[in-house]
Amino acid sequence: MKFISTRGGECVTGAQAIAQGIAADGGLFVPESFPAVSAEELEAMLSMSYAERAAAVLHKFLDEYDYEGLKAACEKAYAQFEGGDAAPLVKIDAGLYMLELFHGPTCAFKDMALTLLPYLLRTGCDLVGIKEQVLILVATSGDTGKAALEGFKDAPGIKIMVFYPNDGVSKMQKLQMATQEGSNVSVLAVRGNFDECQSAVKRIFTSDACKEELKGRGYILSSANSINFGRLAPQIAYYFSAYLDLVSSGQIDMGAPVNFAVPTGNFGNILAAYYAKRMGLPVGRLVCASNKNNVLTDFIKTGVYDKRREFYKTMSPSMDILISSNLERLLFELSGREPQRVKMRMEKLAAEGVYELYDEEREAVQELFWADSCGEDETVETIYEFFEEYQYPMDTHTACAMYAASNYIAQHEKDAAPMVVVSTASPYKFPQDVMYAVTGNDIKDSFKAIKHLNIATAMKVPKSLSKLRDKPVRFTAVSDGDKLYGEVLGFVEKK
Ligand SMILES: *Cc1c(COP(=O)(O)O)cnc(C)c1O
Repeated sequence: MKFISTRGGECVTGAQAIAQGIAADGGLFVPESFPAVSAEELEAMLSMSYAERAAAVLHKFLDEYDYEGLKAACEKAYAQFEGGDAAPLVKIDAGLYMLELFHGPTCAFKDMALTLLPYLLRTGCDLVGIKEQVLILVATSGDTGKAALEGFKDAPGIKIMVFYPNDGVSKMQKLQMATQEGSNVSVLAVRGNFDECQSAVKRIFTSDACKEELKGRGYILSSANSINFGRLAPQIAYYFSAYLDLVSSGQIDMGAPVNFAVPTGNFGNILAAYYAKRMGLPVGRLVCASNKNNVLTDFIKTGVYDKRREFYKTMSPSMDILISSNLERLLFELSGREPQRVKMRMEKLAAEGVYELYDEEREAVQELFWADSCGEDETVETIYEFFEEYQYPMDTHTACAMYAASNYIAQHEKDAAPMVVVSTASPYKFPQDVMYAVTGNDIKDSFKAIKHLNIATAMKVPKSLSKLRDKPVRFTAVSDGDKLYGEVLGFVEKK
């Protein structure tokens, strides 16, 4: 399978797309066509383990990777998840399910892809014949950074540097990154918000001068951000797996549609659901949930993407985003795969901060997606209400999706398809906010909040979070966006 750039400039193999991260013309790599999963193949996947399902989906796109190698890598990656099942589906009520994607090493759904990406990347580089070391730069709004650091720590031939907005991540997220182990890792706080942090990293990626200089020092750049197809591909698998679990547990018949509600920031997770649908999975409506930063909600409702608005810091920081990078891949599909149109819009977004869909594109997007945004008070209320009713504690991001899902269900009585809400983080990753929502107690200390939340909810505390308290802090530096490249050079020089 070949991959092309959303801006028209390139056609490469899957291995190359993953090794490179982003296309040279600034576009994102997308599969040349969507590989179909037949009804027979879906049937055959029913009896598979999560790792086998994931390998089967991945191999559809990455056919130059050896299937057995992929399967072994998936088995190794998902064996690190607590509880035996990497993506359990929990029934909440009739027709309402939670897809829990937070049982990995860092307690957020990013682990689903980032435990596997080192394998995909290293093997990709080998297949392409790249001899240089790989330097991974990650801009993170919180959860990606830690998951990437965990995934790549001490991976041979790879160095990783993570940048996060100094005031834009939770205390727990900051502590998780600051205490990161590994000899090949570095973490840096950047003044400004996530979009500024991401733009600064993107400038390095799109600078030929930077790339040349790094190559001279024996490094090629790659990305672990969700723009890398190697991040997207493993995420497609859990939509298949959730669907298959509904069938194998007798909740639905094979072929019946299922809706998904996804808490959305960079549009990576929900895009994976759309890709699954394009491959033939019977996905109904996709509910795109935003927090107070509702740029995507407005986009889906009006067809106008307008980032010229206030940026809010919320209790769901991984969704505090005004520029959703992966939306470019959807735009490419909506435009009928017209790279010129994508390019024009991305240029317009960069220059004016706004672009607009054509009528038929807006209609198409509204048929696929439904959108809603969830404010801070609604987040707290949703967590409280669902805990009261079902004794099920949710994290702040997941609560946004549950809020949107509830509104979708209330407003679409004729749509009888079951709703799967995608749960993207453990409630223990945002313990103060969840504790406050559940009990009304405002506890300042994260670890105390974890303890009290455990008493209040009886939900098991993930091992990786309870161990965090005793780990030494390794990274405390703060820098400015325009100095990042200098920091990168400093890191690669360090032995
Ligand atoms: C990253 C993240 C999101 C947003 O996912 P996208 O793929 O960026 O849309 C939602 N919730 C949590 C907990 C996250 O870490």
